Amino acid sequence: MNSAQMEIIIGWLYPKLMSTYGDRGNVITIERRAQWRGYNVTVLPLDQNSTAEDIRSVDVIVGGGAQDRQQEIVMRDLQGAKADAMREKIENGTPGVFTCGSPQLLGHYYEPGFGQRIEGLGILDLVSIHPGENSKRCIGNLVIEVTASRLAQELEAMTGTKPYLVGFENHGGRTKLGKVEALGRVVYGLGNNGEDGTEGAFYQNAIATYSHGPLLPKNPFVADWLIQTALRLKYQQEIQLTPLDDTLAMQGRLAMFKRLKVSC
Ligand code: GLN
Repeated sequence: MNSAQMEIIIGWLYPKLMSTYGDRGNVITIERRAQWRGYNVTVLPLDQNSTAEDIRSVDVIVGGGAQDRQQEIVMRDLQGAKADAMREKIENGTPGVFTCGSPQLLGHYYEPGFGQRIEGLGILDLVSIHPGENSKRCIGNLVIEVTASRLAQELEAMTGTKPYLVGFENHGGRTKLGKVEALGRVVYGLGNNGEDGTEGAFYQNAIATYSHGPLLPKNPFVADWLIQTALRLKYQQEIQLTPLDDTLAMQGRLAMFKRLKVSC
């Protein structure tokens, strides 16, 4: 099968409720980079009007950030058969990128600074707690080295260099990991909680991170990893993506590293 005969369905979690800080850019990046290589792409919003079957139909999942109030609405909707479908997808290796508020929802629970605890899906072994409305938010540029071992190896194989991700964090919640592997170690910024040096989580093929940015335009090789992983899983055949010209993105990353005085 060639690329024109293949389709990738991007499931976009609650676009209207969970798209703070430009997270939509992650969807666009996957869409364009797949289209530029000749693959057919469908973007399917997964929201209050969707069914569990819709969730089961997607090849890659994108979840963005949200305000606490919106997270509550989402979690009220993501129950029963829909929650089971999400769990099934992630457990079965569907790749996904989950930013900021969405990892909090994939964890056991999120305690907002004000109001009731929001129960999560419990797929990722982590909890998130907002230390209170008077505490400082974690805001600023974020650079991490990917340490999740399989992902680090696969990204390194794709790029030929140690994988560093650059992004921007803006969260009140502090996340503590249980047994789940961290996505990376913080090189610059605060990450999961500003204390233990961890950032994000990696489980099966789900990338969870506090990095907005949006993440994928700044780290296009992660978008390629998602596309490649999704297509391999769907079509059960070896997929080699044709290279794209990422000069601008790479120059942007270098300028960022220089400005932040980090050596990556
Ligand atoms: N509501 C969450 C927090 O403040 C997530 C914020 C976000 O997604 N940017 O921690």
